[in-house]
Amino acid sequence: MSLLNDAGDTEVADNPVAAGLLAVQRSIAEAVAAAGRSDPVHLVAVTKTFDAEHIRPALDAGQRIVGENRVQEAKAKWPALKEAYEGVELHLLGPLQSNKVKDAVALFDVIQSIDREKIASAIAKAADAAGRMPRCMVQVNIGKEPQKAGVLPEETAGLVDRCRALGLPVIALMAIPPVDEPPGPHFAALAKLADGCGVDATSMGMSADYAEAIAHGATWVRVGSAIFGARPPVPKTQ
Ligand SMILES: *Cc1c(COP(=O)(O)O)cnc(C)c1O
Repeated sequence: MSLLNDAGDTEVADNPVAAGLLAVQRSIAEAVAAAGRSDPVHLVAVTKTFDAEHIRPALDAGQRIVGENRVQEAKAKWPALKEAYEGVELHLLGPLQSNKVKDAVALFDVIQSIDREKIASAIAKAADAAGRMPRCMVQVNIGKEPQKAGVLPEETAGLVDRCRALGLPVIALMAIPPVDEPPGPHFAALAKLADGCGVDATSMGMSADYAEAIAHGATWVRVGSAIFGARPPVPKTQ
């Protein structure tokens, strides 16, 4: 079974995940057209908490860019799926601890969550040892929330420069706006910040707001529940 990516596709999906994927692909195409954009928007299908059997229909339908939050969980699921599906591009979206950097560099193609120099140096070192350098994004705490991961907006340019000096290919800025505020101004702020840092791309927008993120220039959108369905609530210990 293969579902085409363009909005003109009329194939009917026979599985809820394939149907969700197709619906998201179509509304991305609509948002891109509405924004009058001709540059590409990439869909990261966020597979955290879902097992391989639940994920497969999206891969069967041709989806190749996928995202996970936790190194351990990704390590349990993705090596086998990467074997089975050629061309999978795996993104790390969640916070990275020093003791997981080696595994992350071995497994992920893109690390979206670099938010401090210590982790950037650890990635550079691990990449050197492994002979494998993932592409990188710097995560910005765009709403300046005390409990949230990400570098502060005013410290972002400095961290991007440090990453580049360490040899990390910084391809975008990533952010998750505050849940209780309208996301539009935060998307606009991230796009402007990226421009100012000499980074020409952004990763922003999730199931609830990816169309708005695209209107603000998002290069990557990260969509989970709109494709795969509701996730079980995260236990308090995680
Ligand atoms: C879970 C998650 C997503 C996807 O969230 P949905 O609302 O299910 O689309 C996107 N980005 C990050 C960083 C996430 O942790």
